[in-house]
Amino acid sequence: MQLDYPQGGSAALVAALVRGITKHGGQIKTAAHVTQINSQKARASGVRLRNGETIEATCAVVSNTSVWDTLALIPAGVLPPKWRAQRQATPACDSFMHLHLGIDAQGLPHDLACHYIVLNDWEQGITAPQNLVLVSIPSVLDAGLAPPGKHTLHVYTPGNEPYGPWQGMNRHSQAYALQKQLRSEVMWQALERIIPDIRQRTTLSLAGTPLTHERYLRRYQGSYGPAIAAGNAIFPGPKTPLKGLLCCGDSTFPGIGLPAVAASGMIAAHSLVPVHQHQQTLATMRLAS
Ligand SMILES: Cc1cc2nc3c(=O)[nH]c(=O)nc-3n(C[C@H](O)[C@H](O)[C@H](O)COP(=O)(O)OP(=O)(O)OC[C@H]3O[C@@H](n4cnc5c(N)ncnc54)[C@H](O)[C@@H]3O)c2cc1C
Repeated sequence: MQLDYPQGGSAALVAALVRGITKHGGQIKTAAHVTQINSQKARASGVRLRNGETIEATCAVVSNTSVWDTLALIPAGVLPPKWRAQRQATPACDSFMHLHLGIDAQGLPHDLACHYIVLNDWEQGITAPQNLVLVSIPSVLDAGLAPPGKHTLHVYTPGNEPYGPWQGMNRHSQAYALQKQLRSEVMWQALERIIPDIRQRTTLSLAGTPLTHERYLRRYQGSYGPAIAAGNAIFPGPKTPLKGLLCCGDSTFPGIGLPAVAASGMIAAHSLVPVHQHQQTLATMRLAS
């Protein structure tokens, strides 16, 4: 398991990507929900946005939403039914429970680590619901992430919270609030093993569920990504049967995780240009180094 703590928080990664894109003349459009991937003459021709705007693709459409979310954007009849059915049947990893906390740091041990892993029952393994809890205290490494005298914590059950018990729940209902409280308890208990008086220290507490994941990360069932186990199968490459439509992100090779999805973006980009252009880029890099 690889865990990353970029200085400046995950926003620093986004800022770096934005710099890379705009430096090379790219434009970024945020809050632009795609409702459909358009096609003309059996080729992806652009995207339609929720506000009715259409963006034409001069080269290709590249989708980094999950396999299930991408399929939902392509009208019936555009893709071969067998291919669509196979991709739709991709098994999904479970989702997450989250706790985001702001705590008083006064009097905490100086050797507090940035990261802890609590496994309740070794025999059940790391994918069993409510068994594995990860604790991150990134303000230990980067004090700028919390006000003076405070720490910021992210506690979560990584990819082991089933979507089923949450499916269809009304997020404003009492039943949801209660279930959220009950299924957060395992995270509080894990935290108490590290900071025994954590409940008294907490000044801000936000809990998240698979429905939070689904809604804010806008991922099918709030899933961590495709459950494709190494050795059993391989994540698919960027190409699709619809010409001009490529995929990248955690539903494509090499898989889940920031370095992997960055690599998948490079693979998709490389698939769009001929080899001699790759060679030109390499030559430029050699000159620059
Ligand atoms: C709690 C947690 C901790 C993690 N920790 C690590 C870690 O330490 N190290 C690591 O390497 N990886 C980590 N990961 C995994 C990593 O974050 C993901 O694998 C990676 O972010 C996936 O990137 P992506 O581009 O494939 O998908 P996403 O990041 O899901 O990007 C897809 C984007 O598409 C947008 N979208 C969806 N539908 C539409 C639409 N219709 N129109 C327009 N936009 C749309 C979404 O809003 C989203 O922004 C973690 C994941 C989680 C959930």
